[in-house]
Amino acid sequence: MGQKRAGYYGVLFVAACALIGVNGDFSYDDPDRWAETDPDCGGSRQSPIDIVRATAAPPPLEHSAPLLLEGGTRKPVSITVTNNGHTAQYMFSWTTQIERPTLVGGPLPFGAPYVFQQLHFHWGADNTRGSEHTFDGQKFPLEVHFVFFKLEYGSFEQALAHPDGLAVLGAMYEVGDEKVKAGAKWARPLPKIRTAGTTITLEGREVFSLESVAGGDWLRYYSYPGSLTTPPCSESVTWIVRDGTYPVAQKSLDELRNLRDGNDQPLVDNFRPLQPLNDRTVVRYGL
Ligand SMILES: [Zn+2]
Repeated sequence: MGQKRAGYYGVLFVAACALIGVNGDFSYDDPDRWAETDPDCGGSRQSPIDIVRATAAPPPLEHSAPLLLEGGTRKPVSITVTNNGHTAQYMFSWTTQIERPTLVGGPLPFGAPYVFQQLHFHWGADNTRGSEHTFDGQKFPLEVHFVFFKLEYGSFEQALAHPDGLAVLGAMYEVGDEKVKAGAKWARPLPKIRTAGTTITLEGREVFSLESVAGGDWLRYYSYPGSLTTPPCSESVTWIVRDGTYPVAQKSLDELRNLRDGNDQPLVDNFRPLQPLNDRTVVRYGL
């Protein structure tokens, strides 16, 4: 009887873990307590930060290569979209590895390519907040993160252990005009992943490129050394945050806000509070 019961609770436990998802159990209700289980979250090069335009430094003199996002217009074979309880995450699959979008130049170590791993969003319960980074204290309703890892480290997981392991492109959105009213292609699968722990795969005409998520060039941006903005908060990220905004349809924002978290509550305000800059320098490129 006792054993049977233990088995029963074991099944319950596994079911609960599956619901919470692969990213472990953390909550935006108590971000100040993340460091209790993930010590890096209490480190000195944490993200996000407020980017103060007037105090950003010019690029170092030896800087010459422009930042290049290669493959930004390429469409993958399929895209796996997951509601992991904390965000909507998009993993792209390619026929061959060389098709993966690649980031080089700019603030990245010379000649070292970073390859695309996944993208995801951070948003607010209303249009007055949602972005993780802010510009001179200004918040935006939505911020996308394109996550890349340094190819020489072999995988995202291994790159996490290195101070130069990851590069993340961040772009801000503002609610757009008539042209974007119909909503973005990335927002269409969202009604199918409302429940936390749900995954669907997009194929054929449903797939899209990075360019369609946050189009435009990457010539004007701010860069600083930081971290993942969710546990384990690894201090391995070269942040590249684009100046300016990209339009998003109100409808697409609403679809994000209709997602549910692991407690079946609305998945909104999934942004980490601003972190201290400490002794870091924010560098401005093209500005
Ligand atoms: Zn993020």
